Amino acid sequence: MVKRCCWGTCNTDSRYPDRMRGVQFFPFPKPRAHLEKCVLWIKLCGRPHSQLNTSNVNKHTYICSKHFVDGKPSGQHPHPVDAAVYADVLHPPVAPIRKRLRHNLVNSSPPALKTTAVAVKIESQEDIFPKSEPEERDEESPVADRIRQLEQRNAELLQEMASLKRLVETLQSPLQQTTPEALHYCGIPNYSYYCTGFTYQQFNSLCEVFGVPNSDSDSVPRENIPFTYKCSDPQIAKMPLRQQLLLVLMKLRQDFDMKDLAYRFQVGVESVCTVFTSWIAYMSSTLAQRPMWPHRDVISEHTPLTFKSRFPTTLALLGFAELKIERPNAFLVQNQIWTTDALKSLIAVDPRGAVLYVSALFTGAEQDVFRQCGVIPLLQTLLERGHLVNGDGLIADERFRLDGDVEKLGLKLNVPPCVESKKQMSAFSSRKSAAQHQKHVERVIDKIKTFKIVSGRIPNSMLSNMNEIWFVVSMLANFQSGHH
Ligand SMILES: [Zn+2]
Repeated sequence: MVKRCCWGTCNTDSRYPDRMRGVQFFPFPKPRAHLEKCVLWIKLCGRPHSQLNTSNVNKHTYICSKHFVDGKPSGQHPHPVDAAVYADVLHPPVAPIRKRLRHNLVNSSPPALKTTAVAVKIESQEDIFPKSEPEERDEESPVADRIRQLEQRNAELLQEMASLKRLVETLQSPLQQTTPEALHYCGIPNYSYYCTGFTYQQFNSLCEVFGVPNSDSDSVPRENIPFTYKCSDPQIAKMPLRQQLLLVLMKLRQDFDMKDLAYRFQVGVESVCTVFTSWIAYMSSTLAQRPMWPHRDVISEHTPLTFKSRFPTTLALLGFAELKIERPNAFLVQNQIWTTDALKSLIAVDPRGAVLYVSALFTGAEQDVFRQCGVIPLLQTLLERGHLVNGDGLIADERFRLDGDVEKLGLKLNVPPCVESKKQMSAFSSRKSAAQHQKHVERVIDKIKTFKIVSGRIPNSMLSNMNEIWFVVSMLANFQSGHH
């Protein structure tokens, strides 16, 4: 009669002598005589119920000696080992763990021990339960080996678990909050400036300009600042005002995506949009209230000598900034039909490069922008107040054709007085000189455009508050270099 082992995945079979070397069979306890023991062994064998159960155990049911700690049912270990436990060894979940196990065994066990040699050889299921070469298994029970292996592996897994637990704790710890201080102290040189366009000190000055506490300790009631957002958004209500200003500056300077900012500040995307829109409106109205165009004496006092020697009465330079926009489909904003892909803004700067005036954004020719944008009433007011006097000069590129409009106001355009007094200087060289100073305006525009939100092609979605954004970044450029 064929004898086969009914334990787990064991394939000991009396028909195959090569599987039988040093292996003995032990009869399975019969349910009629030893029901309890029989049920226990069935459980330990771990076979599916259909294969092994109390109704099919009979005198031909055997279990082989491989599954007893002592190589046979002994007083100390009367039952076979649990196949369910070994299933884990047979199919280890992660290969690297096993590699480490082998490595450790090699290093930690004395090489003389035979068990070490067996453990080191573990490569696959066949090695744990040799199918074809069950050599030298007779002297010491293979089950004892396996128990040692299991203990080793258990120790390994406990270590692995402890290190994974530490990793999880690291990953779950709150992310570094994006705050002005975090940027300042992060260790990356000039990181605050990179993110916002301002040093940490300049950021704190800006906080004062916008009525925001310049450290977290002294708090200003938020009600003092007329934000348009509703503080019902709990994420915004929790966010310190300094941090909100930081978020807005980072959007203006680096044009970070709203999702990116949501991640950096650990708030929702909608909250980021709300904070940004509200702050732009607030910053724009706050900056508009600040005196911009100083008295002619103040401008003159700060005018560099090289400039003064050429243009003694020139107080401002005019130029036009151009912003590229996504080509709109006859997009209607503020009663203008936008059919071009560029918007223009008149900008006036003083001889040292501070922005004196910046208009809203318009389409059309420069001359039309000059007439529409509101600079004419401003210049009239400045003349009335004595901030400018008749005969004061402005410089603008002649292709803008502003001379007629400017002279109507009683101001001079692009006519350096030194040319009038020294007739030998050709009109060509005076134009050239004025063109050089036109570059001065362009440099200021380039500086404003280091705020990336206005440097690229502006998406239609941003157009609704683009006038405010443009005004804010133009004014912020003055704070960067201390022109305020
Ligand atoms: Zn067996």
